[in-house]
Amino acid sequence: MGDDEPATISEAAFPLGRASFDPDAGPAEWLWRRVLEVLRAERERISARPVSAEVDLGRLRAAVGAYGFEEPVAPGVVIDETVALLREGTVHTTHPRYFGLFNPAPTLLGVVGETLAAAFNPQLAAWSHAPAAVEIEAHLVRFLGARMGYPAGAVAGSFTSGGAEANMTAVLLALTRTWPEYGTAGLRALPGRPLLYASAESHLAWLKIAHATGLGRDAVRLVPAGADLRMDVRRLRALLEADRAAGGAPFMVVGTAGTTGAGAIDPLPELAALCGEFGVRFHVDAAYGGMAALSDRLREDLAGIERAHSITVDAHKWLSVPMGAGALLCTDREGLAETFRVSTSYMPAGIPDTVDPYTSSQQWSRRFAGLKLFLSLAVAGRSGYAEQLERDAELAGLLRRRLADSGWLIVNDTPLPVVCFADPEAGARAPGEHHGALARSVVRSGRAWISTVRLNGQDALRACVISHRTTQADIDGLVQAVNEARKEQRA
Ligand SMILES: *Cc1c(COP(=O)(O)O)cnc(C)c1O
Repeated sequence: MGDDEPATISEAAFPLGRASFDPDAGPAEWLWRRVLEVLRAERERISARPVSAEVDLGRLRAAVGAYGFEEPVAPGVVIDETVALLREGTVHTTHPRYFGLFNPAPTLLGVVGETLAAAFNPQLAAWSHAPAAVEIEAHLVRFLGARMGYPAGAVAGSFTSGGAEANMTAVLLALTRTWPEYGTAGLRALPGRPLLYASAESHLAWLKIAHATGLGRDAVRLVPAGADLRMDVRRLRALLEADRAAGGAPFMVVGTAGTTGAGAIDPLPELAALCGEFGVRFHVDAAYGGMAALSDRLREDLAGIERAHSITVDAHKWLSVPMGAGALLCTDREGLAETFRVSTSYMPAGIPDTVDPYTSSQQWSRRFAGLKLFLSLAVAGRSGYAEQLERDAELAGLLRRRLADSGWLIVNDTPLPVVCFADPEAGARAPGEHHGALARSVVRSGRAWISTVRLNGQDALRACVISHRTTQADIDGLVQAVNEARKEQRA
């Protein structure tokens, strides 16, 4: 573990052999104290460490491969070696200067929630097996749905592994609701080719979903975005009309609230109106941006989301709980029950006035994903979260000003804390190459983590403020790091 992590607790007393094979045997307190030491060291020292390290693939594989699993190894040794591997072989999303891909440092209560969920290990397939856990998740789903603007009493939905599963759930629900014969006879029973529409800036899980559902990847119509990186509604209308005229069967339009690249929010009210006019389903993929609804101020930027047939959110993004905790929200309890209906003799019988999650969502055995959000939300309060979200937005505003002052061009416009910026003097190199080199230089320095992005054909750098650990000093540190990288690249 190096000098980073003195092993102050002796493992001499820890038994090897058969005793370590019995998961309940051994001095559990010793192990927990060891883990607590690791967590404390992580919290206290993370900001002094590089955000990411260079990984030597050969060394990493050799260290992992050294475990042949034939003979038992003392748990203290395994934990220490694994922690060392994770420290060296991880981009530290827990770092205050990780300005990355919607992965924040997790809340403490989120980590505690994961531990309790694992230890109690309630089986959420059937209500009767896990009444407390199912009711806690249902309560959270109602809370989130109500914040989106759905009538509180009508909210339905479920926790998912993440945004991708929630989006897939939305597609299955939309197909089932649009064509009741889809569930039994399948896609070939439909009167035309089902088509779905999302912005060219949308999250491309849509392609994998189209592949997996049998729609086929070509069924995803990527609608060009305007200069503001929001879906161009006129182009959408033209596509819908042309596809209909050609015998296609448009069934769903996706508005993205917070695109992955630039944090753009599609024009939701216009999309809702157009969907009404064409009689197609409206889904909002708000995996990242949707949690802005916890702030009364930021909620205004999501106006129109409440008109969606279904909404995807991800608590493991802006709400900072450990991965995976997505959710699909809607007001169509019967539709979900129809989409995922099944009954077996070996599952426990349903109980009146309750829903068995395995009969109204995609997963069967399911873990208690909601607990980490329940604990985090209860302890921070909605107001605590709102403060944090608004603070991230303010820090991003500060970052935009500082970058502009240093001669960078800000190339996106969003109320969300995603800042995309370009060097107007790329020099002789192609802009893509130039910005790639800038990002690599910043990442290699270990001082911050940022990425590159291509927006409407333009290359840029991308920084997302999402960690509760990020301060004004970290924003200054990032600006310094990119300025120095630029100097180095121009030299
Ligand atoms: C992250 C993201 C997804 C995918 O969610 P996962 O949790 O990674 O499965 C989908 N859509 C958007 C807009 C996202 O930002």
